[in-house]
Amino acid sequence: MSRTFDPQLRRAITERIRYYNELGIYDFYRREPDSELPHEPEASVIVEHQINDPALLLRMIREDLGDCTRCPLHKQGRKQIVFGVGNPHAELMFIGEAPGADEDQQGEPFVGRAGQLLNNMIKAMGIQREDVYIANIIKCRPPGNRTPEREECETCSPFLMRQIAAIKPKVIVALGAVAAKTLLAINAPMSELRGRWFDFRGTKLAVTYHPAFLLRDPRQKKETWKDLQMVMKDLGLAVPTKAEP
Ligand code: SF4
Repeated sequence: MSRTFDPQLRRAITERIRYYNELGIYDFYRREPDSELPHEPEASVIVEHQINDPALLLRMIREDLGDCTRCPLHKQGRKQIVFGVGNPHAELMFIGEAPGADEDQQGEPFVGRAGQLLNNMIKAMGIQREDVYIANIIKCRPPGNRTPEREECETCSPFLMRQIAAIKPKVIVALGAVAAKTLLAINAPMSELRGRWFDFRGTKLAVTYHPAFLLRDPRQKKETWKDLQMVMKDLGLAVPTKAEP
């Protein structure tokens, strides 16, 4: 079916095609809209599946995101967009909820107290923060650290989906109920989400507590450690006999 693009979108696509041509890519196809991703940006029609370089793909996704104004969070006091950080070739990806004050300030996810705890959790698994990739469902800080609204998650998460598709991790760990429910599109309590594997578009996904919650309720660290051990076994990491981080 023929389709007329508005001039601004046409210009964006033309510029993007020129960019790909400069990279030596000349074959393009147009993907039909994915009903699961209602707000996926149309300029992402392009050829990401042809590119086998996760670092390049992540740069392209970041460029598409631009100085994003797609949801109301762009005008609710964010200092900057918090895209994601880590190894583009990571086997393990952690996905949280949203940037907080420290993350908004520094432009990197999980850098505050919750970030320190996440770093300790990662170290306890026998790996480093630099080995994994860390992102959030939404990329701008909600005012007062409120829970992101559904529409904000739906508008922003297609970029995260593209980051996941670029990195192709073996395992995703959803940190907290908001991340889990958004990724899995189910409404279930943490008690039903933890301690088992989910399939996320062909990738194994486990759910555990958000580090910010663990700071408020450290008793749940033991349970979190069990979740991480399940992930470690799957990734072939040696599971230490020592107690939780
Ligand atoms: S939260 Fe996401 S969709 Fe909303 S303005 Fe920020 S980057 Fe854009």
